[in-house]
Amino acid sequence: MANATPVRVRFCPSPTGNPHVGLVRTALFNWAFARHHQGTLVFRIEDTDAARDSEESYNQLLDSMRWLGFDWDEGPEVGGPHAPYRQSQRMDLYKDVADKLLAAGHAYHCYCTTEELDARRDAARKAGKPSGYDGTCRTLTDEQKAAYEAEGRSSIVRFRMPDETITFTDLVRGELTFTPENVPDYGIVRANGAPLYTLVNPVDDALMEITHVLRGEDLLSSTPRQIALYKALIELGFAKEIPAFGHLPYVMGEGNKKLSKRDPQASLNLYRERGFLPEGLLNYLALLGWSFSADQDIFSVAELVEKFDIADVNANPARFDLKKAEAINADHIRQLDTKSFIAACEPWLRAPHANWAPEDFDEAAWQAIAPHAQTRVTVLSDITANVDFLFRKEPVEDEASWTKAMKGDPAALLTAARAKLLDADWTSPESLKNAVLAAGEEHGLKLGKAQAPVRVAVTGRTVGLPLFESLEILGKERTVQRIDAALAKLAG
Ligand code: GLU
Ligand code: ZN
Repeated sequence: MANATPVRVRFCPSPTGNPHVGLVRTALFNWAFARHHQGTLVFRIEDTDAARDSEESYNQLLDSMRWLGFDWDEGPEVGGPHAPYRQSQRMDLYKDVADKLLAAGHAYHCYCTTEELDARRDAARKAGKPSGYDGTCRTLTDEQKAAYEAEGRSSIVRFRMPDETITFTDLVRGELTFTPENVPDYGIVRANGAPLYTLVNPVDDALMEITHVLRGEDLLSSTPRQIALYKALIELGFAKEIPAFGHLPYVMGEGNKKLSKRDPQASLNLYRERGFLPEGLLNYLALLGWSFSADQDIFSVAELVEKFDIADVNANPARFDLKKAEAINADHIRQLDTKSFIAACEPWLRAPHANWAPEDFDEAAWQAIAPHAQTRVTVLSDITANVDFLFRKEPVEDEASWTKAMKGDPAALLTAARAKLLDADWTSPESLKNAVLAAGEEHGLKLGKAQAPVRVAVTGRTVGLPLFESLEILGKERTVQRIDAALAKLAG
């Protein structure tokens, strides 16, 4: 279908803390949709809640978006024709719109106090009637308003919902209908003059000529209100057309409860700190409500962009599965070329992660072990413990590993292994393996049992990278020294 209107979507978070994975999925779907349609992604900061928004959260948000690899066509740091893109810098605009809505009768001053609203809502509930705002101030005369003001009452601005059913076709959920009793008049400006999300969000969507609003299902109830407001904005010349809306499914966490912002598993920083690759995390998050194909769930960001369509998003709640996220990330680690893997590991080889003296880091040993590590780690933070045996003067002391591996007669086994390893070919992991195999045979042990004490003597741990490659890289002299140290420890 030839579509004359270019796609314009927006990502418009409030900077109220650490970004969470639900927010990242919303950003991802908007970004992929924009890129798929060669459209425009507008990045807008909804920072009108001075009490909750902070400059620190704002900076964190931008840093997160950059780390994830998103780019935007309009917004902070890049500017654009609708600047500024921070709502805190657009207050005059909202005031102007609110004044015009009031003048045109699309909004009115409401003088009800919280106590009065609560009391009437409770009464309506008891009577089994709709409990939203009851329209008390819809038709106040000038005298009534003057009387309220003389009483010292303050007023909020309320939008007047038309008495009509609102129907729209959600891009994810199909046709949805809202009847007037379910969408009461709602506040758009606080008594202190501060405009609310209910006003600033659709006003900016209108002014920024957004064509598609893709956002979480939690915002579905605001959509009929926004459609009504849009109609008023069109009438007043602020908007051209009502955008299409698509509501992304809920993400469920543990125990089939909605993943909440406060859930530790929901924090983007957690994934970043554990060493997820951005493309691994994005691949996983794309699967929350969407699928690439029936038989492929590993894909690149470029493949996602090529295939992504909002019409393919599933309305059913998606389940957040950490194990699957990790498995997908591991796949992305395997797919890196060695050079990129080595570069990605860099931060985990330095303070505060490294548990060795910086001067003991050995670049050649790291380059040699890296390809083995690349086939094993799930997240990049795993790297430190997997390679520390190369850079520490002595292996880590892990009593649990020691107890587990030093069973039977470990001294006899280690003594035999030491002798055979001294005679082995240290340029061949195969030869080192045969040495330990032969030592095991002398003591009636299979390779798995025979190599456990050697691994713990040399690396300090029961699990790690392929042992014989590790020994080769560590070298004959240090390997034998460590076996000797273990033997001394066993001798007590
Ligand atoms: N600032 C709103 C939020 O963070 C944006 C909602 C929307 O996408 O309309 O939830
Ligand atoms: Zn009122």
